[in-house]
Amino acid sequence: MNKELLKENLREIPDFPIPGILFYDVTTLFKNAECLRALIDELYELYKDKGITKVVGIESRGFILGAAVAARLGAGFIMARKPGKLPAEVIEETYAKEYGTDTIQIHKDAICEDDVVLLHDDLLATGGTMAATHRLVQSCGVKKAYVNFVIELKDLEGRKAFPENVDITTLLQL
Ligand code: IMP
Repeated sequence: MNKELLKENLREIPDFPIPGILFYDVTTLFKNAECLRALIDELYELYKDKGITKVVGIESRGFILGAAVAARLGAGFIMARKPGKLPAEVIEETYAKEYGTDTIQIHKDAICEDDVVLLHDDLLATGGTMAATHRLVQSCGVKKAYVNFVIELKDLEGRKAFPENVDITTLLQL
């Protein structure tokens, strides 16, 4: 992966959404055609031989590359969403946040035991969101669940939120 291309196109927004937070804006990665294609190509190369049958993207920035790489891999695409958004019967997992809790849901019939799943989101911070989604997918009895993020904020040690044997890739470490 051309990390310089990613660094050049990633926009940093100080004090968003609240003062003191440096927000990494991935919309500028997706806006740049070369960068968008390089991201999709890289994800395809990483996962093309894994037998992936479903890609799960986390709301909402995980939907963009998640759906694109699913199409390239010949896999289906599943939306993992916040409560109240999915119309059919759901299964859910609740996880602790800095203040309070949050919940992530997928449709009950989205994933089956035969699936090999790639979970994707834009950014790994504490890992809470993805670790909960990973537990949710594992509870479906899948054959294997891989995890990918575009960006990893290393100081936050988000990998520690996952069991040690989980296969996690990140494209840019900051
Ligand atoms: P975590 O659960 O603490 O790992 O937070 C990750 C979630 O928060 C992901 O769904 C990200 O999209 C979002 N997030 C946190 N910080 C940023 C950021 O700086 N840029 C983009 N998304 C972020």
